[in-house]
Amino acid sequence: MSVPSYKRILLKLSGEVLMGEQQFGIDTDYVARVAQEVKDARDSGLEICLVIGGGNIFRGMAGAAKGMDRAQADYMGMLATVMNALAMQSALEQLGVPTRVQSAIEMDKVCEPVIRRRAERHLEKGRIVIFAAGVGAPYFTTDSGAALRAAEMKCDALLKGTSVDGVYDADPKKDATAKRYDTVDYDTVLADNLKVMDASAVALCRDNNIPIVVFSIRERGNLARVLAGEGTQTIVKQGA
Ligand code: UDP
Repeated sequence: MSVPSYKRILLKLSGEVLMGEQQFGIDTDYVARVAQEVKDARDSGLEICLVIGGGNIFRGMAGAAKGMDRAQADYMGMLATVMNALAMQSALEQLGVPTRVQSAIEMDKVCEPVIRRRAERHLEKGRIVIFAAGVGAPYFTTDSGAALRAAEMKCDALLKGTSVDGVYDADPKKDATAKRYDTVDYDTVLADNLKVMDASAVALCRDNNIPIVVFSIRERGNLARVLAGEGTQTIVKQGA
């Protein structure tokens, strides 16, 4: 596989990545480990935007399933992503990496609002920008938030760091014959309903020609390998 020449990436981490081996919440040691990998990537000269989910704390769908109003539950989920963003900012700054959090829900005591031009300036200065609260609206996920920010910040790729090492044609936990794709087309992902990101996020990446790189962030050193075009991953792109 040829070495990708990314200059600016958006790295999306599922909230569950922050729990480490725990069942819930934030494992600060694990967050520090991931922060070190993000720092290494940034020290190699990359501009990095981060989006972190909230599933380790609260998911709107789970609240709705227990009878909560869906929109209300989704706002709680968005607040969870702000907590995760602050935890990651803290870990990155302890490693000496200047980091700014921009939230789609304004919260001026704790972070900046999303302002694209300001985010641009942060990146130029070598800061990492963490975009929190997804798109700032219920009925969406942080995958859609990641696709939106990747498009508006003109990122060369959206890297999705998760617990699985790519995209499979069936659930690898349930089907031993499940096959992992090295590359797969956006339209195949949408038509076959493959588990990558939600459909609105995939469509937004397709329409803006942003490759989606799905890899496991749980394996130590994997982010660097994936950025070097090595390691195990699936790339979702046009004409794969
Ligand atoms: N959420 C939302 N709008 C957004 C982003 C997130 O309503 O634009 C809510 C939604 O309830 C979601 C929760 O925040 O379940 C946490 O985000 P997500 O499920 O994407 O986190 P992840 O699965 O990546 O940890």
